[in-house]
Amino acid sequence: MRASRLASDLLNLLLPRGCISCGDWIPEGRPQGLVCARCRSRLPRAPWPRCPRCHLPLGTGRRPEGTCRECREWPSALSSARYCYVLAPPADDLVHALKYEGWRELAVEMGRAMARLELPRGSDDVTPVIVPVPTTRARVRRRGYNQAELLARSLADARDLDVIDALERVRGGTTQVSLHPSQRRANVKDAFAVRRGFFPRMRGAHVILVDDVLTTGSTAGAAATELARGGASWVSLATFARALPRYRRAGS
Ligand SMILES: [Zn+2]
Ligand SMILES: [Zn+2]
Repeated sequence: MRASRLASDLLNLLLPRGCISCGDWIPEGRPQGLVCARCRSRLPRAPWPRCPRCHLPLGTGRRPEGTCRECREWPSALSSARYCYVLAPPADDLVHALKYEGWRELAVEMGRAMARLELPRGSDDVTPVIVPVPTTRARVRRRGYNQAELLARSLADARDLDVIDALERVRGGTTQVSLHPSQRRANVKDAFAVRRGFFPRMRGAHVILVDDVLTTGSTAGAAATELARGGASWVSLATFARALPRYRRAGS
């Protein structure tokens, strides 16, 4: 696995730089030159109105006035969720490149996009801290980094907040990709623990939990529950993208 990472790092160095999504050549010296201007302008935002708690677009195959079916199942420890883009082209290409292709530089720009979100506050009096959702040790070894941590650092830099690596993954859990929501919840239940030594910093803390993608909320829900158990008094989630399987972009 290490050899394949080395190979992909070498390829990244040797190949001429093109847009990570469409492959178009990007003029030398352009700032943030990993994504071309056209793809950047096409990053898909979710339409309004949205659920006040989780920002799921309402009126996409559900009653506009009805309760949100997505966050209804979330534990109360996870107060809200915000995301920049819908997980659709070209946002999904960025996530894939960061997660599976070794493009860790992308995290800087993706984290800055997250910093521009209007993030909820638990209270005006308490400065929130940023906690990345940890991944398994095996995955960190394979990739060389946890993409959620890179996003967390970029977001925290832009907002002048502290990153506290308070959570650890204590149970592996298989990949969530092909699981149903109830299986996802079982898969990540008890997957996280507050690291030894971090309980004092979590006591009464207001936490912005950071991950790359929000799918069903089961991972974030389990992480938020553990943070609350560790003393945090308020937890909200921020992600770069959200998977909306029933969502279709206008005109498609
Ligand atoms: Zn492009
Ligand atoms: Zn909701």
